[in-house]
Amino acid sequence: MPTVWVLGAGQLGAMLKQAAYPLALRVEPVEPESEQLPAIKDGDIITVEREQWPDTAVTRHMSQQSGFMNADIFGKIADRFHQKTMLDTLGINTAPWRSVEVDTQAESLHAALGPDVLLKRREGGYDGKGQFWLYQNQGLDVPSDWLGTGIAEKKIPFNEELSLVGARDKDGNKVFYPLTLNLHRNGILMASLAPLARVDHLQGKAESMLGKIMDAADYVGVMAMECFRVGEELIVNELAPRVHNSGHWTQAGACVSQFEMHLRAVSSLPIKAPEVRGQSVMINVIGVERETNWLKIPSTQCYWYGKDVRPGRKLGHININHPKKSAVQTALNELRHLLPENYGDVFDWVKEELAKL
Ligand code: ADP
Ligand code: MG
Repeated sequence: MPTVWVLGAGQLGAMLKQAAYPLALRVEPVEPESEQLPAIKDGDIITVEREQWPDTAVTRHMSQQSGFMNADIFGKIADRFHQKTMLDTLGINTAPWRSVEVDTQAESLHAALGPDVLLKRREGGYDGKGQFWLYQNQGLDVPSDWLGTGIAEKKIPFNEELSLVGARDKDGNKVFYPLTLNLHRNGILMASLAPLARVDHLQGKAESMLGKIMDAADYVGVMAMECFRVGEELIVNELAPRVHNSGHWTQAGACVSQFEMHLRAVSSLPIKAPEVRGQSVMINVIGVERETNWLKIPSTQCYWYGKDVRPGRKLGHININHPKKSAVQTALNELRHLLPENYGDVFDWVKEELAKL
């Protein structure tokens, strides 16, 4: 069997490694700053857990290999200018946008995009970092450090945020998980919930959008599509050519997790439509110390990433899964007492959404 090398050695790489065990695949996450070059052999596969990487001896070595999957796509997706251009070319709905050039004036952005305009860095933004709201009623200019480095988007008055995780194999076969409902706070994903019968009627539309994107890119592996739902419309917010936080619930709630699905696809093993079991909720552990009592809660899985605690940092996640909604709610009630008070609104949101199912 070939080795699957993962560019990046964060939690996504670690969870890919975990998922590799039943496939008896060797998966080796690689730290870009590592001193030692990975011993890649002919026939090995190289995949990524991040869309962008620093230029180091290791990343140069990895990205030059013939087994580097989806090589052409990263430049197109990691730069929001190119990503939005690609979506426009494919005729896929996104938030109306403009490029922020060196001489772009706030006035022209407001004229094109309305009073509230969101500046996003072309590259490197994540978890809501690299964003700046330009409000016309504050009479602000485009800040000088944004000139030539960003795009500007119209504010979308969305009803909610949904994401779709799908996978495509080398022959172009595609499989998808059900649409997932996501709650973000300050741009950081806090909780996800799936499946939701009330958005089933949007599933086909979402699958054809992501399918079109994956086909156009001849993409192999798992890709996530973050969307805004506005009425019955889906608007693509952004794409992630990798396993995605909003797919973590599949570890507990699907017969093949997104991590295993990605490995199957990149290593030419069969992919299949993932049967989904029960009701899943995923709660992200953001800036909170690890609490071993979480391990006592029924119907849950805990993942700790082993990172130092810092405010706003993703440190782990908790998957709750059970065939009965009432059991999921019981687990949530227990967990609520073991997380800080500022999680109150997250639990309220999940409770309300579960009640709607
Ligand atoms: P990141 O790479 O940080 O995830 P996103 O583009 O997904 O960047 O933005 C983070 C969050 O900011 C989104 O999940 C959404 O809640 C909000 N957001 C992004 N773009 C818009 C927009 N055009 N209008 C309204 N809210 C937005
Ligand atoms: Mg996002």
